[in-house]
Order: sequence, then C-alpha cells, then structure tokens
Amino acid sequence: MLVVMKHDATAADIDAVVGTIREMGYDARPMPGKQRVAIGLVGNDGKVNADRIEALNGVLEIIHVSQPYKQVSREWKEESTVVVLDNGTRIGAGDVAVMAGPCAVESEAQIIGIAHRLRDGGATILRGGAFKPRTSPYSFQGMGEEGLKLLARAREETGMAIVTEAIDSESLDLVAEYADIVQIGARNMQNFSLLRRAGRAGKPVLLKRGMAATIKDLLLSAEYLLAEGNGNVILCERGVRSFDTHTRNLLDLTAIPVVKSLSHLPIIADPSHGTGIRNKVIPMARASVAAGADGLMIEVHPDPERAMSDGAQSLYPDMFEEMMEQIAVIAHAIGRTLVPPLVPAGSAQ
Ligand code: PEP
Ligand code: MN
Repeated sequence: MLVVMKHDATAADIDAVVGTIREMGYDARPMPGKQRVAIGLVGNDGKVNADRIEALNGVLEIIHVSQPYKQVSREWKEESTVVVLDNGTRIGAGDVAVMAGPCAVESEAQIIGIAHRLRDGGATILRGGAFKPRTSPYSFQGMGEEGLKLLARAREETGMAIVTEAIDSESLDLVAEYADIVQIGARNMQNFSLLRRAGRAGKPVLLKRGMAATIKDLLLSAEYLLAEGNGNVILCERGVRSFDTHTRNLLDLTAIPVVKSLSHLPIIADPSHGTGIRNKVIPMARASVAAGADGLMIEVHPDPERAMSDGAQSLYPDMFEEMMEQIAVIAHAIGRTLVPPLVPAGSAQ
C-alpha cells in the first residue's frame, strides 16, 4: 500500500503518517519524489485500516498496489530507478551502459589486458567471474578471492567498475567487499536466502533471470532485495530455455519493454548467454539496444579459443569494438546515447 502525500504536506504531516503506520505494526518507507512524498507501507497482511491513515493531515490518496511484487512495481514508484556507480556510470538514466569482459578471470595478464582494451573501446564496467557456477563439478570453478583481487587491480588501473558473481553466502560477503555490483546468476535467481543476504550487502545487485523463470518470478525475486532495503537493483534478461537447439538459450527481448512498464528498475540484456554463439551476439546486442535495454553484458576474451569457460560465445576484442560502433548508432536512432567512455576517443593510452 502506498500513501501519497499532498504536495504541500509538511514534515510533521509526513512524520505523523509514518508514526501511525508503525504504531499499527507495519514498516513505513518514506520516498521523496520530484512532485510529492509517498510513504510505502511494507508488510500489508490485508488487515490495514486504510481509513485511519487516509484521515490524517496532508494525505492525498491511498494506492493499493495490485501486483504481487510491491516495491519493485511502477505503481509503487513511478520514476525510473537510476543506479549510480563510483566511476560515474549511471544505469537506468537513459544512456546505454556496457559491461564487458571474460566469462571468468583466468590470470592477471588476461584480465588487466582485456580491461584496458574494453575501456578504450567504451565499456565502463568490467565483468569477470571469480566464483563460477558450473554445470559440471569437474569444470573450472573460478579463481576465488585471487580473482577478486585481480579485478580490483584492473579497476585501479582502468577506472572501470567491477561486476562479478556471488554463488553462495560465503562468496557473497567476499564479493561485496571487492565489487561495485554483485551479480546473482540465473541459477540462483530463486535462492531466496542468498537474495536476502544480497539485499543487505550494501552494494548494487545485478539480478539475472533464471532460465525457466517468468518475468513475474524475476520481479518477485527482485522484491526480496528491495524488501531488505536495497533499491539499487539492475535486472538482466539472459535468455530462457527453449525447445529450439540452434541457440543455447532464447533471448526474450520482449522482457525489456514488459519489465519497463511493470517496474521502475533498470533492465539490461546479456546476448552472450542469451545465444551462446559468438556470431549471434552482435545482432542480438543491436536488437537489445533497439528494444530499450538500459545496458548490455557482453563476454569478450583476448583468446576465446583458449578460454576456460564460454569461449564459444565470447567475442574477439575487435568484434567488441565493431559492436560498440553499431550500438552507438542504434541508441542514437531512439534518442539515447552510450554512457560516456572513461577515456575520450582518440586519447587511449
Ligand atoms: C555469467 O554471467 O557468466 C553467468 C554464469 O551467467 P548466467 O547466470 O546468466 O548463466
Ligand atoms: Mn559465462
């Protein structure tokens, strides 16, 4: 339930509403907006006496949020959420943010080398898994904390922000120490205890859609993060399982406009896992930007043939550069631009 205050409501009016909600045994979340303040009532068990709140001074109206996800919905918050990172990258503000890097951190030379190349190509966020959720227990599982240290070094050298995955509660605390964005992968999208913990980690979270999750499931998982007080959530469409075997997954681009209408949270697309095939990544990256994605996550490896994971879907660095040129044109065509590069074009060192 949302209590919308009149534009001339005083601080005392707002305090009185918050106090009343708490007295009734619920949690109150004041949300200052551009026009007016709204106060969210969290924990509605269907027994709230709305008349008591509506009668208070300064209350304009009460909105009953019809969706099962509450704080994630646009009914709850009309203005789009913008996630702002320390290096100035804004996700959800209209510009297209690009996160790129190898599937996994493999060595210092690999991650530092590719980070420079990607930053010079216009990416502002570096991806790379240090903890890898692998289908087989015998596959490379990631470098662990050593990988996180290498990512931190790459950030120091390039100014890029870091996004990397936490696969369980032990890795989550460690990842949150190093990363600018904590990634929760498709396989963990409905790991509710991990989501709660991520909601308390104090870092923005990138939540990837599960391979068999509906859009509603995705939004309800995001609700766990917001319910813990973390509003800095970025959603990611990364493809769902389909009956067709031509691609690894089916990248559901309709999820982008659907999520944008249902939720205020930013949504990016991952055409690398979404297709699983290198030469399908650029066409679907272009399509994702055209569909209105707030950003892209792209796997790029300096030597994909020798990658320890997901080499078949990893772009060569020169392909990444070509993709950036193309998506800049597409973004422009729909009145958007790419997030400004960290290094102005032509001055790469
Ligand atoms: C990844 O980003 O490397 C990854 C494992 O993605 P997903 O969780 O979407 O499979
Ligand atoms: Mn991968």
